[in-house]
Amino acid sequence: MVDTTKAIETARSFSTSGSKNLFIGGKWGPSHSGATLDVLNPATEQRLSAVSSATPEDIDDAVRSARSAFDDARWNAVSPHERSRWLLKIADLLDQHCEEIAAISSLEMGMPFSSSIQITRQMVDVFQYYAGWTTKLYGQTIPTDGSSFTFTLREPLGVVAVIIPWNGPILYTAWKVAVALATGNTVVLKPAGEAPLTCVRFAELMEQVDLPTGVFNLVTGDGATVGDALVTHPGVDMITFTGSTAVGKHIMRNGADTLKKLSLELGGKSPFVVFEDADVEMTSQMAIKSFTQNAGQACTAGTRLLVHDSLFDEIVDRLTAAAGQLKVGDPFDPDTEAGPIISAKQLNRVADYVDSGRNDGATVSAGGRRLDRKGFFYEPTVVTNVSPEMEIVREEIFGPVGCVMSFSTHEEALEQANNTEYGLAASIWTTNISTAQTMARGIQAGMVWVNTHFELDVMSPFGGYKQSGLGRELGAESIAEFTRTKSVLMRGA
Ligand code: NAP
Ligand code: MG
Repeated sequence: MVDTTKAIETARSFSTSGSKNLFIGGKWGPSHSGATLDVLNPATEQRLSAVSSATPEDIDDAVRSARSAFDDARWNAVSPHERSRWLLKIADLLDQHCEEIAAISSLEMGMPFSSSIQITRQMVDVFQYYAGWTTKLYGQTIPTDGSSFTFTLREPLGVVAVIIPWNGPILYTAWKVAVALATGNTVVLKPAGEAPLTCVRFAELMEQVDLPTGVFNLVTGDGATVGDALVTHPGVDMITFTGSTAVGKHIMRNGADTLKKLSLELGGKSPFVVFEDADVEMTSQMAIKSFTQNAGQACTAGTRLLVHDSLFDEIVDRLTAAAGQLKVGDPFDPDTEAGPIISAKQLNRVADYVDSGRNDGATVSAGGRRLDRKGFFYEPTVVTNVSPEMEIVREEIFGPVGCVMSFSTHEEALEQANNTEYGLAASIWTTNISTAQTMARGIQAGMVWVNTHFELDVMSPFGGYKQSGLGRELGAESIAEFTRTKSVLMRGA
């Protein structure tokens, strides 16, 4: 049995001890400049520790390390069974350190520990799942006539740069690193500036696993400096990025000169659509969670609630009451349902969006203020009297803010659901199977839920339509993203 209190203590002492180094070519060391970046605890506003601020020279070192590990086949020539065992070893270590990793995440990004632990456990599944794929990277035999023999090989891409956001450090690390390694690529991981410590601890575990030198590297530092250096580096073959749509577009432009393969998981403004025959109790309970879980800092948050006229008042009343009762506070208090916003900057952004809604004539029926306490806390906020062209309805806020709108016909519901430049996710709440299936087909989003929200199995693909991204993660589709196909045509000599 893991002693949770002890694991949290270990996480605290790791997170508050000395500044963390870069992990390049199997060695830990400071950046060339020696500069560091502070990491704060958003629940207390106190400094936890610092990480190295990598320079373009450090990025070059990291890419060269990953490059040579790929080029001399140190990793991709390893037998698929052996590669599988390595991934299982990572899964085991992650499992053993689950509580500690979850606690480091909660300390640096404020996610309630109860949620963080659940997510970290699922990440063990991701490594186990892709461990099973190393032995199934099949090609095809092409049915040409008997004079030649043509077949395909599924090959790794090379060096993959993994760039992730702060709102789920272990989640995105696992999604991307597990498949990259399973398919024989080598990796340079760059966590977000606000939440790099979970990834530093992950890199320590990777060191314990003792992968061949250079197969996994970790760089931390300023997003623009490190990000631009990785994206423009000719030695990097693929960028797998999760983050904002703005940075995703910048990466696409920046990667053009070296024609980088890109996988982009970007922002969202997902509809949560409630039909006249929905189970009101269940729907309301999930509706509040859909935009307050992780303090609304979730790419699939249900931030545009579209409710049939007949249920509108009741749902708004229930959401308003639930928002007022939601327990916001210390991520380590087991009763806490929502923690802080990641930073002062992000908190101000959230507040500015709500103010813009007020100025545009919206009604704030619950919340709408910063909490009067230390830490970057914002009240769970319900907004009504909004129209589709308002900023608060159109733009991703990344805070605990839900806008509730009404519709009268199903055509109108579909039109409003799709009235966004994003297309990451949607949920449909109905007891009518025809409504569910018509909406599931009609909604332009990569993930559609019916009578649930946020649930995701690592076996099914995930990714955005429209400006929510390019490519798919998880499941078999991720295998295709991280590999390329070679056709071989053979004739007898
Ligand atoms: P962000 O500002 O776009 O940053 C994401 C990552 O990109 C960070 O590691 C950041 O480093 C790095 N970065 C910054 N500038 C860069 C550059 N010029 N080139 C390459 N990388 C660069 O996003 P965030 O604020 O961390 O996260 C919130 C956003 O992520 C939201 O928009 C959310 O919707 C999106 N998100 C999407 C998904 C999804 O699966 N679709 C999941 C979660 C989050 P620094 O932190 O050091 O600046
Ligand atoms: Mg950022």
